[in-house]
Amino acid sequence: MTRTVRVVHTVEDVRAAVAGWRGGGESIAFAPTMGNLHAGHISLATLCAQAASRVVMSIFVNPTQFGPNEDFGAYPRTLGADEQLVSAAGNVDLLFVPDAAAIYPFGLEHAVRLQLPPLSRELCGASRPGHFDGVATVVCRLLNIVLPDVLFLGQKDYQQFVLMQRMIADLHLPTELRMAPTLREPDGLAMSSRNRYLDAHERQQAPALHRAPARVREQLRSGARDFGRLTAEAKAELERAGFRPDYVEIRRQGDLAAADSAAREELIVLGAAKLGRARLIDNLLV
Ligand code: AMP
Repeated sequence: MTRTVRVVHTVEDVRAAVAGWRGGGESIAFAPTMGNLHAGHISLATLCAQAASRVVMSIFVNPTQFGPNEDFGAYPRTLGADEQLVSAAGNVDLLFVPDAAAIYPFGLEHAVRLQLPPLSRELCGASRPGHFDGVATVVCRLLNIVLPDVLFLGQKDYQQFVLMQRMIADLHLPTELRMAPTLREPDGLAMSSRNRYLDAHERQQAPALHRAPARVREQLRSGARDFGRLTAEAKAELERAGFRPDYVEIRRQGDLAAADSAAREELIVLGAAKLGRARLIDNLLV
């Protein structure tokens, strides 16, 4: 079924559309984004369309999840192209494009903010203080506006997924969270809006952020258990490719707790590193 997308900007318009669908017994799946849409975002919409009868996507570059020295101002805003892509994909019913005043009616200074548990200050949270609290602050609002049955988030932002899973459970939000696999470029680089920041040479080097964790995963699969050596080698590989690594870590898959090299647990390899002016992340389930 090809869907005709309707673009709305207000909370009232979202509520009215969703209420109408609910009245007709329909179900709703939701994929929040920051825009500059790529095939990864469209794959979320495809999964939404398989999970529910109606699909809502949002585009909102959320100010509260950016630090003072981060790229909020520079973040690519390409609404015209985004609308065309969503329209051509034909798998979204409602595209919600609010401004900051719609999401934060009392202003940023006076906004109610969520504070996530300590995991939010590890991994990406260690170098991006307040980032995940900002993500929770906006995702909770969006869930309360859209009231979806199902929420899709991408595996690429794995720590975000785990923290949103915790938020939904801890706040008793009536939404089921599901994970969408990471879509990659042919050379392995995870699709990301921030790939735009790379120049031609950096773009050639960038797949190292996929290759280095992939090597760690192979070694883990062949029984290696020296986590410290494996992650140090991965960081060195990233540095050789011109990255400035933030971290490469092996963690427990379900909750991102510290992994025990003696236990047989499901693991995940996560990495974050800067290349030029881009800070990129990736991860692989072992
Ligand atoms: P963003 O616009 O970067 O905030 O991402 C919006 C949603 O799309 C998040 O749930 C991301 O995890 C997901 N996403 C981003 N990149 C990809 C990708 N390459 N493959 C699948 N999902 C993605």
